[in-house]
Amino acid sequence: MSEQKPSLGYQDTPVLPSGYHVHDGERPQPPVVTPGTASTADKPGAAPSDATVLFDGTDHLSHWRGKDGAAPQWKVENGYAEVVGGTGDIKTIEEFGTAQYHVEFCTPAEVKGSGQGRGNSGVFVLDRYEFQVLDNYQNPTYPDGTVGSVYGQFPPLVNAARKPGEWQTYDILFTAPVFGEDGTLKSPAFATVLLNGVVVQNHTQILGPTTHKTLTEYKQHPTKGSLRLQDHGDKVRFRNIWVRPIGTHDGK
Ligand code: MG
Repeated sequence: MSEQKPSLGYQDTPVLPSGYHVHDGERPQPPVVTPGTASTADKPGAAPSDATVLFDGTDHLSHWRGKDGAAPQWKVENGYAEVVGGTGDIKTIEEFGTAQYHVEFCTPAEVKGSGQGRGNSGVFVLDRYEFQVLDNYQNPTYPDGTVGSVYGQFPPLVNAARKPGEWQTYDILFTAPVFGEDGTLKSPAFATVLLNGVVVQNHTQILGPTTHKTLTEYKQHPTKGSLRLQDHGDKVRFRNIWVRPIGTHDGK
């Protein structure tokens, strides 16, 4: 009798579109990732082992740049970064594309203003697609500008806002658009978004970079860009920011 290698699967089953057999034991194993931990009201969680940590509260935004490429002027204390109005947006030095973006934010506990004037900021993926940050707890505004919206395009499916002063989580699964060599759009951007663990965008087909009061359209742009956080003048806080590129099945 010949010695047989223990098999993890099958080689005598039908072939899938991927070229692998159903239950194929020779198919590449998924890369191992050690999951992170969930955040609590008081304490940010840990990022998954393969994430790029962009801010964990232990340095003064070293992965980020502010106005004109200078060091960010936002306040950093007690493990969070807080918008200092008028100092400008901040964006990451490193650029990312199709990825899972995790951002936690907290709008001011002291409620001031209404509509778009209450706890306004924003998370811009690829430097140009805004997922709105706003205090929408018992504070209605135009629906496509509500927290969880693709700003100016798609309202969130539900309003899953926590109260002002409470930490909230954004998990944005973003698929970058694809352009042909001639600059034409081959595939639009898509986003699936969870706000506080609740689905607010489900594979939403994005119309183009987000805009204010105007229609948008795609124009060729790089498939990677900075993650940008908005200075809208309100003292919104951020913590526990990380990104992990979304890979492909079988590493292909
Ligand atoms: Mg905004």
